[in-house]
Parts: sequence; C-alpha cells; structure tokens
Amino acid sequence: MSKEKLEYLINRNDNQYEVVIGLEVHAQVLSQSKLFSTSATKFGAEPNTQVSLVDAAFPGMLPVINEFCVKQAIKTGIGLKAKINKRSVFDRKNYFYADLPQGYQISQFKDPIVGEGKVILDMPDGQKEVGIERLHLEQDAGKSIHDLDPKNTFVDLNRSGVALMEIVSKPDLRSPEEVNAYIKKLRSIMRYLGTCDGNMQEGSLRADVNVSVRKKGSKDFGTRCEIKNVNSIKFMQMAIEYEANRQVDLIEDGQTVDQETRLFDTKKNETRSMRSKEDAHDYRYFPDPDLLPLEVSDEFIDQLQLEIPELPDEKKKRFIDQFKLTPYEANIMVSDIETSNYFEDVVKKSDVKLATNWIIGELFAALNEKNLEITDSPISAGNLSKLINLIKDGTISGKIAKTVFEQMMEGDKDPKKIVEEKGLKQESDPKALEALIDKVIDSNRDKATEYKSGKVKLFGFFVGQVMKVSGGKANPQLVNEILKKKL
Ligand code: ADP
Ligand code: MG
Repeated sequence: MSKEKLEYLINRNDNQYEVVIGLEVHAQVLSQSKLFSTSATKFGAEPNTQVSLVDAAFPGMLPVINEFCVKQAIKTGIGLKAKINKRSVFDRKNYFYADLPQGYQISQFKDPIVGEGKVILDMPDGQKEVGIERLHLEQDAGKSIHDLDPKNTFVDLNRSGVALMEIVSKPDLRSPEEVNAYIKKLRSIMRYLGTCDGNMQEGSLRADVNVSVRKKGSKDFGTRCEIKNVNSIKFMQMAIEYEANRQVDLIEDGQTVDQETRLFDTKKNETRSMRSKEDAHDYRYFPDPDLLPLEVSDEFIDQLQLEIPELPDEKKKRFIDQFKLTPYEANIMVSDIETSNYFEDVVKKSDVKLATNWIIGELFAALNEKNLEITDSPISAGNLSKLINLIKDGTISGKIAKTVFEQMMEGDKDPKKIVEEKGLKQESDPKALEALIDKVIDSNRDKATEYKSGKVKLFGFFVGQVMKVSGGKANPQLVNEILKKKL
C-alpha cells in the first residue's frame, strides 16, 4: 500500500483549496429511559405513547437526572480518551418551536461533562488523529410531522427528553473520506461501549457538518458554514463536496463566504441557506434553576473505568500481536464488536490463517449478498471452525469446502454431517488413488507417452482428469505425488 499522503484538494484556475471540516455529532444515549424522566425510549412506538408530564412540560414538573445516562456519557468520554469533568452544569437553551413544549432545551454550555479527547483514524496513508473538543449531555426535542395532512402539522413527543450526547470535534478533518472514517470509528467505539447503538436509519446518530475552505498552505481558517442535521455518511460526504465547491466558487468570483446555517437537500444534492449569523438565535443560555450542578467523584469515575471493555484500537494491537494478522486484516476484524467476537470464537478452535481468509473472503461476500449482518449469519462461529478443521486435517479440499460452505449458508448445519451425507470426504487412501490414477493413465496412453518424451505441460491434464474422475474428492497433494511416480 502506498504511504504517499492522500490530499483532498479543490482546483480552480491556478489555485488549490484545502477543505476544513468539524463535526457536531448527536448520538442518542443507549438507555431504557429519558434524560430527566422515566418514560421509555423505544424506537418506533405509537406516537405520544412514551411521554410523561415532564416530557410534555406540564407546569410544575421537575426534571430528575437519570444516573444511567450520566454513566453512559462518562464511559463515552473515557472511550474518547477525554478529560472527564467532575463538575458540569445543565443550562437552558431558550427557543420556541412547536415540538419543544418547554420553550427551552436542557443542555450543557459552558461546563460540559466531558472535555478534550481524541479519535484515531486508520487512513490508507497512515493514522490520523482527530481532536475532540467536548462532549455534553442534552435533551432531544419532539418531532413535527408535516406529511400526514395537507393543512395540519402533527407533533409526536416520544423523542422529547431522550438523552443525546453532542460530541464536538476540532476542525481537524480534511476530506469526505476522513469524515467517513471518523463517523465509523466514533460509532464503533460507542457500540463497543454499549453507549449508543449508532443506528443512523433510526436517527440515533446524526451530525451538523461545519465546512470551510482555504488556499493550500494558508494558516488561517476560512469562514465556515454549518450544515444542519445530516443523517447518513453518504449525505455528509455529498454535502461537504457541494458546500466546499460552492465556497471555492464564491472566493474565486471575488465574493466572500457568509457564516450561516444551511441545510442539505438530499433530492437536489445541494445545500441551501436556513439562516445567517446576523439573525442567529440568541439562546440566552443560563443555568437551569431546577437542576443542581452535576458532581461526580473520583470513585464514581474509577468504577466506570473498570466497566470499559477492550476498545477497537487496543483490540487491533492485540490481534496483530496474538494472531499475527496484518494491520489491514486487523482493521476489518475489529471494525465492529460483533465481527471481532465472531472471529475470536472461530479461532478459539481452528487455524487463524484459514479462519481469517474464510471470514474476510467467503463469509463477508455471502453475508453481503444476502444483506445480512454477522449477528444473523446462518453459519455459526462453531460450525465455521469445524469446516476449517475439516480442511486443515485433509478431510476435504478447499474446493469441496466451498460447496459445503454454500450448503451451510442455507441453514446452520454441521459441516461434518454435510460431508458424510453427501459423501464429500476427500479420498486420501493411496491405494484407492493409485487405482484411479492407473485407470486414467490407461485410457490416455498416447498422452502418457507424449509426457514421457518431454511434454511436461501434460501433467496438469492428468491431475485434472483424476480430479474429475474422483468427483473432485481426490486429495490433490497425494494425486500429484502418485502421478509423478507413475508417469
Ligand atoms: P458553534 O457553537 O457556533 O457551532 P463551535 O466553536 O462550537 O461553534 O464549533 C462548532 C464546530 O465547528 C466544531 O466542530 C468545530 O470544529 C467546527 N469549526 C470551527 N471552525 C471551523 C472552520 N473554520 N471550518 C470548519 N469547521 C470549523
Ligand atoms: Mg454549532
């Protein structure tokens, strides 16, 4: 692999522009109940069935902090190698919207629960560190539904009060590819930790994307635009490309970029202005008088530290040390926790090299074709290791193994049984093979003579014939040995 630096630049006229990106990721905390109430958070419930008086902002209702959500945020902070702030403050962020009955969102502004951290990206040209500015806890708003009725907008408050972690990156990202890697890494870390399910289709992970451009070599950042609430990696990448090019066009045209909030229209593949900084909201943040500052002790943090599992970066190192995987293979195996668990289950009982090739090659291709996740794999880790052992001990050839594998994909069957039932066992008895080989030589006398007189290329022909006559079951290695002798 080339170690040359992969730069993402936009060329216009004689100028080269670098793109600068910072993300504000909203990750829904994996929790049964909401940040300040006991209502359920289940996705897809009937509208307004998971709403308490607190979530509906009835007068006089008091928020009570959910300790579990606090733990989840701190664990995520630990996963981001970040500073955990022992004292943080909940503020009211005031604005009016139909799906925000309180008239404010409870968030953290000046004193977030988690401070600076970092995320390591594995890029084709090497590792890249992306700084984390902060992580804070906040409530989600409800949802306005505009497309159920031509005249009315409906409001669903199920999401109102659900805990979010806003994870703010430093402006360290430089290309759509890095954004892709960053979101995937963040998602992977949180899924290892069990703090966010990372399900982008269900909106559990979405981001505000800040984009600016500057001439290559320039030290100063350009003016940024913020693209709100993008909910897929592909859309983030498309939005960045569009927005960066728009800004470059403005600059090349002698105009300036206005700092503004934009939205990405996924149908037209363009960003459009929502509001400019001049009429930007003044949220009038102030500490929520209903909530005391959140204080956590060293013991509380230490206890959580004990609950942190091995995370992707450490696991990758271990896989390289312990199993001698290449960095490329290790990256694939640790990319999500389910794959890494599956891999470790398989290699507990079978050869690592074969297991790695079969998982990355056959299994991923087959799952991909059926659009299945590894957790839904029809082939259990136990049965895959059995198949690998059958190859390893010479019971079946790699070629027959592919047939057996296909059968296993159709249902979770023991490969040994398939081999027995279908009579696929490899023929490794030298006597039986000799008989086969004699027959093949006998019916190809002329070719055997040609071979002996120097046409050595014909060897392959004989191997092929023997394999064919044996129905693919002859042990290829033995066939080679015996043929050499006989010919
Ligand atoms: P705000 O609260 O107004 O959104 P922040 O300072 O919190 O402002 O920054 C929000 C995000 O914008 C961060 O992720 C940060 O990395 C990013 N950012 C800041 N400056 C730039 C820039 N010049 N270009 C691209 N992204 C930027
Ligand atoms: Mg912002």
